[in-house]
Amino acid sequence: MEFIDLRTQQERLQPNIRERLDNVLAHGQFISGPEVGELEICLARFTGAGHAVSCANGTDAITLALRALGIGPDDTVIVPSFTFCATAEAVCLAGAIPYFADVEADSFNLCPESLECAIHAARSEGHSLKAVIAVDLFGRPCDYDRIEPIVRSENLYLICDAAQALGARYRGRNVGTFGDITTTSFFPAKPLGCYGDGGAIFTNDEEMAALLRSLRVHGQGADKYDNVRIGTNSRLDTIQAAILLEKLTIFPEEIERRNAVARRYAALAGDGLGIPEIPEDMISVWAQYTLRTPKRDALMASLRSAQIPSVIYYRKALHRQTAYAHFPRSPNGLPISEQLESEVMSLPMHPYLTETEQARIADVLHAAMAA
Ligand SMILES: *Cc1c(COP(=O)(O)O)cnc(C)c1O
Repeated sequence: MEFIDLRTQQERLQPNIRERLDNVLAHGQFISGPEVGELEICLARFTGAGHAVSCANGTDAITLALRALGIGPDDTVIVPSFTFCATAEAVCLAGAIPYFADVEADSFNLCPESLECAIHAARSEGHSLKAVIAVDLFGRPCDYDRIEPIVRSENLYLICDAAQALGARYRGRNVGTFGDITTTSFFPAKPLGCYGDGGAIFTNDEEMAALLRSLRVHGQGADKYDNVRIGTNSRLDTIQAAILLEKLTIFPEEIERRNAVARRYAALAGDGLGIPEIPEDMISVWAQYTLRTPKRDALMASLRSAQIPSVIYYRKALHRQTAYAHFPRSPNGLPISEQLESEVMSLPMHPYLTETEQARIADVLHAAMAA
């Protein structure tokens, strides 16, 4: 059994992907080829965002977003502590300071109360606070109906790190249309992944999109050798765009399948397993299916003996990691982020997980709970 099965999808799409790759080999425009522009149009249509700008990876996507918003040295950006390290790393790469806030226990996402506390504390501590990065962790959108008004009323920018959540929805809105800028990643194991590194940035602001397009190619101006600002090299390869174009055609169906898998887990689990619950008006893309249970270590050991893979995302909150321990944090502490470290475990999740496999996983979990 695979934790994330990429092979079944590849077999399904192989003839079409090969055809797309053959086209790229034939035209030979490996950088900024026609597939890149075509993908950006498809991604904008898919999310409903005004503009999609592709780039080299999800970490660059956040760094480019920060730079496009004019955030740099001496500025401070609030980030949740319970996330993949790249969220805070991108802030540091832009030259700014990450300020940690806590998450909610049931959603794993930025906690509005902790966010408010962090905003007021950062300001009273003299930080030049500029933005908030909300992470749609494990494929589930944040509670934007609560987060957006807080960020707006405090005159801050909102960046949505949707590296795990492209295709998700909340109250009739698609991920990609919240906040000022949304970023995503096409790392192979993300819900929409390519066969290497890739990323994209979404915004409704045309000027912002133009600025992002300039920043990703060495700050280019009117033509290639006109450099109007310091940029970087962060383009999406044409070959990756070609692969994503093909994968995007089945992505809506794969999101349905992921939700069917999640529903089956919920039906099989019964009480006591700490399964994730999604509100009625939300669609997750289930980048991970993450349980929260005090019996985590025993359950994982049983799964391991049954040769069923399970993984801990995340073993250590960022404010407790060596590289990030010295950065500031909410004075109320980050108790939920710290508690989750010892309680979370993620089960196999991908669109092609079978009922038989899920029944086997549930049997092992039930036996371990009863022991
Ligand atoms: C994967 C991920 C990133 C970084 O994406 P890369 O493409 O690997 O650089 C950023 N934030 C979160 C929450 C992620 O899961």
